[in-house]
Amino acid sequence: MDLMTSLQEITKLSHLYYERQWMYATAGNLSVRDRSSWEQFWITASGKHKGELKETDFVSVSVADGTLVSANEGLKPSAETSIHQVLYSQMPDVGSCLHVHTLDSNLLEFGVEKTEGYRDIPIPPIEMIKAFGIWDEKPSLTMPVFYNHTHVPTIANEIKRYFVTEGIPKVPFLLIEGHGPTVWGKSIAEANKHLEAVHFLLQVMARRV
Ligand SMILES: [Zn+2]
Repeated sequence: MDLMTSLQEITKLSHLYYERQWMYATAGNLSVRDRSSWEQFWITASGKHKGELKETDFVSVSVADGTLVSANEGLKPSAETSIHQVLYSQMPDVGSCLHVHTLDSNLLEFGVEKTEGYRDIPIPPIEMIKAFGIWDEKPSLTMPVFYNHTHVPTIANEIKRYFVTEGIPKVPFLLIEGHGPTVWGKSIAEANKHLEAVHFLLQVMARRV
Protein backbone atom coordinates (compact mmCIF):
# COMPACT_ATOMS: atom_id res chain seq x y z
CA MET A 1 0.00 0.00 0.00
CA ASP A 2 1.54 3.36 -0.98
CA LEU A 3 1.74 6.27 1.44
CA MET A 4 -1.14 8.32 -0.01
CA THR A 5 -3.46 5.29 0.09
CA SER A 6 -2.46 4.69 3.74
CA LEU A 7 -3.13 8.32 4.67
CA GLN A 8 -6.49 8.22 2.87
CA GLU A 9 -7.40 5.07 4.77
CA ILE A 10 -6.45 6.63 8.13
CA THR A 11 -8.38 9.80 7.23
CA LYS A 12 -11.47 7.69 6.52
CA LEU A 13 -11.09 6.04 9.94
CA SER A 14 -10.78 9.48 11.57
CA HIS A 15 -14.17 10.49 10.11
CA LEU A 16 -15.68 7.15 11.10
CA TYR A 17 -14.38 7.37 14.68
CA TYR A 18 -15.67 10.95 14.92
CA GLU A 19 -19.12 9.71 13.89
CA ARG A 20 -18.86 6.96 16.52
CA GLN A 21 -18.09 9.65 19.14
CA TRP A 22 -14.62 8.25 19.78
CA MET A 23 -12.75 11.40 18.66
CA TYR A 24 -14.73 14.46 19.59
CA ALA A 25 -13.22 17.80 18.64
CA THR A 26 -9.44 17.40 18.29
CA ALA A 27 -9.21 14.35 20.60
CA GLY A 28 -7.20 11.27 19.67
CA ASN A 29 -4.38 10.61 17.21
CA LEU A 30 -3.85 8.06 14.46
CA SER A 31 -0.61 7.00 12.82
CA VAL A 32 0.82 4.66 10.20
CA ARG A 33 4.36 3.55 9.51
CA ASP A 34 5.87 4.67 6.20
CA ARG A 35 6.35 1.43 4.23
CA SER A 36 8.98 3.01 1.97
CA SER A 37 10.95 4.16 5.03
CA TRP A 38 10.20 1.88 7.99
CA GLU A 39 12.16 4.25 10.25
CA GLN A 40 9.51 6.95 10.12
CA PHE A 41 5.79 7.16 10.74
CA TRP A 42 3.02 9.60 9.80
CA ILE A 43 0.77 10.94 12.54
CA THR A 44 -2.23 13.30 12.64
CA ALA A 45 -1.15 16.91 13.10
CA SER A 46 -1.95 18.69 16.36
CA GLY A 47 -5.22 20.59 16.74
CA LYS A 48 -7.05 19.14 13.72
CA HIS A 49 -10.77 18.44 14.05
CA LYS A 50 -11.09 14.68 13.51
CA GLY A 51 -14.43 14.93 11.74
CA GLU A 52 -12.87 17.21 9.11
CA LEU A 53 -9.37 15.69 8.84
CA LYS A 54 -7.74 15.68 5.38
CA GLU A 55 -5.00 13.34 4.09
CA THR A 56 -2.64 16.36 4.05
CA ASP A 57 -3.07 16.85 7.83
CA PHE A 58 -0.24 14.46 8.78
CA VAL A 59 3.40 14.98 9.70
CA SER A 60 6.23 12.45 9.57
CA VAL A 61 8.32 11.63 12.60
CA SER A 62 11.44 9.55 13.24
CA VAL A 63 10.84 6.16 14.91
CA ALA A 64 14.29 6.32 16.52
CA ASP A 65 13.91 9.56 18.49
CA GLY A 66 10.53 11.15 17.72
CA THR A 67 11.99 14.17 15.90
CA LEU A 68 10.01 15.78 13.10
CA VAL A 69 11.05 14.56 9.63
CA SER A 70 8.66 16.56 7.45
CA ALA A 71 5.47 18.58 7.74
CA ASN A 72 3.41 20.91 5.59
CA GLU A 73 3.70 24.55 6.65
CA GLY A 74 1.97 25.32 9.93
CA LEU A 75 1.52 21.69 11.00
CA LYS A 76 2.86 20.35 14.28
CA PRO A 77 2.86 16.69 15.42
CA SER A 78 0.12 15.55 17.78
CA ALA A 79 0.80 16.20 21.47
CA GLU A 80 0.85 12.43 22.04
CA THR A 81 3.44 11.61 19.36
CA SER A 82 5.93 10.39 21.99
CA ILE A 83 3.58 7.47 22.84
CA HIS A 84 3.39 6.37 19.19
CA GLN A 85 7.19 6.69 18.91
CA VAL A 86 7.70 4.33 21.87
CA LEU A 87 5.26 1.77 20.41
CA TYR A 88 6.89 1.76 16.93
CA SER A 89 10.39 1.63 18.38
CA GLN A 90 9.54 -1.24 20.79
CA MET A 91 7.61 -3.31 18.19
CA PRO A 92 9.38 -3.35 14.80
CA ASP A 93 6.55 -5.30 13.13
CA VAL A 94 3.84 -2.77 14.06
CA GLY A 95 2.52 -0.78 11.08
CA SER A 96 -0.22 1.35 12.65
CA CYS A 97 -1.20 2.80 16.07
CA LEU A 98 -4.63 4.24 16.86
CA HIS A 99 -5.58 6.25 19.95
CA VAL A 100 -9.11 7.46 20.77
CA HIS A 101 -11.06 8.87 23.73
CA THR A 102 -14.14 6.70 24.17
CA LEU A 103 -16.82 7.29 26.79
CA ASP A 104 -16.54 3.81 28.34
CA SER A 105 -12.76 3.99 28.67
CA ASN A 106 -13.29 7.17 30.70
CA LEU A 107 -15.99 5.64 32.89
CA LEU A 108 -13.77 2.74 33.98
CA GLU A 109 -12.24 3.05 37.44
CA PHE A 110 -9.75 0.70 39.05
CA GLY A 111 -9.89 1.74 42.69
CA VAL A 112 -7.26 4.11 44.03
CA GLU A 113 -5.35 5.71 41.16
CA LYS A 114 -1.75 4.65 40.87
CA THR A 115 0.04 7.88 40.01
CA GLU A 116 3.38 6.37 39.06
CA GLY A 117 4.43 3.53 36.80
CA TYR A 118 1.77 1.10 35.65
CA ARG A 119 -0.46 -1.74 36.73
CA ASP A 120 -1.89 -4.81 35.03
CA ILE A 121 -5.68 -5.01 35.26
CA PRO A 122 -7.50 -8.34 34.63
CA ILE A 123 -9.80 -8.41 31.62
CA PRO A 124 -12.81 -10.72 31.26
CA PRO A 125 -12.31 -13.79 28.99
CA ILE A 126 -15.11 -12.86 26.58
CA GLU A 127 -15.52 -14.16 23.03
CA MET A 128 -14.25 -10.87 21.56
CA ILE A 129 -10.71 -11.66 22.84
CA LYS A 130 -10.35 -13.86 19.73
CA ALA A 131 -10.04 -10.63 17.70
CA PHE A 132 -6.60 -10.29 19.33
CA GLY A 133 -5.57 -13.71 17.96
CA ILE A 134 -5.96 -15.36 21.39
CA TRP A 135 -7.88 -18.62 21.09
CA ASP A 136 -7.46 -20.12 24.59
CA GLU A 137 -10.69 -21.05 26.30
CA LYS A 138 -11.16 -18.68 29.26
CA PRO A 139 -7.71 -17.06 28.97
CA SER A 140 -6.35 -15.30 32.04
CA LEU A 141 -5.35 -11.94 30.58
CA THR A 142 -4.48 -8.48 31.82
CA MET A 143 -4.11 -5.09 30.18
CA PRO A 144 -1.46 -2.51 31.07
CA VAL A 145 -2.94 0.66 32.56
CA PHE A 146 -1.03 3.94 32.92
CA TYR A 147 -1.67 7.09 34.94
CA ASN A 148 -2.71 10.10 32.87
CA HIS A 149 0.19 12.49 33.49
CA THR A 150 -0.35 16.00 32.08
CA HIS A 151 3.22 15.79 30.75
CA VAL A 152 2.73 13.25 27.93
CA PRO A 153 6.44 12.29 27.60
CA THR A 154 6.20 11.00 31.21
CA ILE A 155 3.42 8.62 30.10
CA ALA A 156 5.57 7.60 27.11
CA ASN A 157 8.53 6.90 29.43
CA GLU A 158 6.36 4.72 31.67
CA ILE A 159 5.10 2.81 28.62
CA LYS A 160 8.68 2.28 27.50
CA ARG A 161 9.60 1.05 30.99
CA TYR A 162 6.69 -1.42 30.83
CA PHE A 163 7.87 -2.87 27.50
CA VAL A 164 11.49 -3.12 28.68
CA THR A 165 10.58 -4.64 32.08
CA GLU A 166 7.47 -6.74 31.34
CA GLY A 167 7.83 -7.34 27.59
CA ILE A 168 5.25 -6.79 24.87
CA PRO A 169 1.71 -7.09 26.30
CA LYS A 170 -0.23 -10.24 25.27
CA VAL A 171 -3.10 -7.99 24.20
CA PRO A 172 -2.39 -5.41 21.45
CA PHE A 173 -3.42 -2.37 23.45
CA LEU A 174 -2.87 -0.28 26.55
CA LEU A 175 -5.10 2.07 28.48
CA ILE A 176 -4.38 5.49 29.96
CA GLU A 177 -6.74 6.00 32.92
CA GLY A 178 -9.44 8.63 32.46
CA HIS A 179 -8.17 9.24 28.94
CA GLY A 180 -8.44 6.40 26.42
CA PRO A 181 -7.01 3.27 24.78
CA THR A 182 -4.15 3.01 22.29
CA VAL A 183 -4.06 -0.05 20.03
CA TRP A 184 -1.57 -1.32 17.46
CA GLY A 185 -1.48 -3.77 14.57
CA LYS A 186 0.69 -4.90 11.65
CA SER A 187 -1.55 -2.96 9.27
CA ILE A 188 -4.19 -0.22 9.48
CA ALA A 189 -6.88 -2.88 8.98
CA GLU A 190 -5.54 -5.02 11.82
CA ALA A 191 -5.20 -2.03 14.17
CA ASN A 192 -8.79 -1.02 13.34
CA LYS A 193 -10.00 -4.56 14.09
CA HIS A 194 -8.18 -4.42 17.44
CA LEU A 195 -9.67 -1.02 18.26
CA GLU A 196 -13.22 -2.20 17.60
CA ALA A 197 -12.64 -5.24 19.84
CA VAL A 198 -11.06 -3.08 22.57
CA HIS A 199 -14.01 -0.71 22.44
CA PHE A 200 -16.41 -3.63 22.96
CA LEU A 201 -14.26 -5.08 25.75
CA LEU A 202 -14.09 -1.76 27.62
CA GLN A 203 -17.86 -1.33 27.24
CA VAL A 204 -18.33 -4.74 28.90
CA MET A 205 -15.89 -3.84 31.68
CA ALA A 206 -17.50 -0.43 32.31
CA ARG A 207 -20.96 -2.01 32.62
CA ARG A 208 -19.84 -4.77 34.98
CA VAL A 209 -18.47 -2.33 37.58
ZN1 LIG B 1 -5.39 11.25 24.00
